[in-house]
Amino acid sequence: MKSLFVLSAIFLSFSYASCQQPAVKNHVKNPYYSNTDTAKLHVSNAEWKKILPPELYAVAREQATERAFTGKYWNKDPRGTYYCAVCGNKLFRSDAKFESTCGWPSFFEPVRKNSVIYRDDNSLGIHRIEVICARCGSHLGHIFDDGPAPTYKRYCMNSVSLDFVPDGSATAKK
Ligand code: FE
Repeated sequence: MKSLFVLSAIFLSFSYASCQQPAVKNHVKNPYYSNTDTAKLHVSNAEWKKILPPELYAVAREQATERAFTGKYWNKDPRGTYYCAVCGNKLFRSDAKFESTCGWPSFFEPVRKNSVIYRDDNSLGIHRIEVICARCGSHLGHIFDDGPAPTYKRYCMNSVSLDFVPDGSATAKK
């Protein structure tokens, strides 16, 4: 009887402890993430795979595309700044975001010319220009020539590749 009591107590304490745990994350802490450090990163995909959530790894490192009209930013337009979700590099301001019917968040220019770099992409049997984070080399999306003035460019981005920080928020990481 006594052992039954002890076993119950152990079970209850384990149950209580598991209720106190935060939700288990499917990725480890990202030591490369910074909103202020602009030093170029050289991190292998094997390393990123250990760090990034699978849905971000698929887009950022394997050039996957999230389904249109499903991302968290395609139809939202609050004032703030968009950072690379992989490394924290500052990429876009909400001032350059415009309403697009394509189903992905769209901008007419990056926050700095050297925030992003470009690469020819001939996948899917068509020629497109891929947009890549200049700091970490991760895939962000593509650029097209059908955007609004003043640039007439459309930076068509994957929401999962972006981290949005509203103006006035103190969440920027060093
Ligand atoms: Fe990046």
